[in-house]
Amino acid sequence: MNDCIFCKIIKKEIPASIVYEDSKTIAFLDIAPASPKGGHTLVMSKNHYELISEISDEDVKAVILTVKKLSKALLKFAEGLNIIQNNKRVAGQLVPHAHFHLIPRFVGDGITVEKWSAHKYKDSKEIEEVAAKIKKLL
Ligand code: 5GP
Ligand code: ZN
Repeated sequence: MNDCIFCKIIKKEIPASIVYEDSKTIAFLDIAPASPKGGHTLVMSKNHYELISEISDEDVKAVILTVKKLSKALLKFAEGLNIIQNNKRVAGQLVPHAHFHLIPRFVGDGITVEKWSAHKYKDSKEIEEVAAKIKKLL
């Protein structure tokens, strides 16, 4: 994609702190890290896809292997690690080139990505209805 900022990084048209790349995937540091100690890493396919659901099986396997590879390093760099992948604007996706956020975590870092206010299903009927709806969509 010509106007995609991540495609420009992949093509080396604009700079980034690349920590890993192979023929199918790339990992570089997020320019605005969630973690005050840095190390927030973005992992993605070199082929342009907007959403995780659109990535080819071959490319998504390669991306997950690179996520695992970077996770090993970041779990040595930090005390913990969150992995986040946003799809569509309503879910917080700003750059429309599907990517995983690997966010190193340190005790007392103040990041709250894993916290949300939990809701309750009304009853077992409601949870079963939602499960049935999702199963139909598979
Ligand atoms: P999203 O909100 O789409 O899940 O995440 C996009 C991420 O890309 C943000 O965390 C943002 O800081 C990062 N980002 C945006 N533009 C650039 C850039 O030009 N270079 C780098 N390295 N990261 C970027
Ligand atoms: Zn792209």
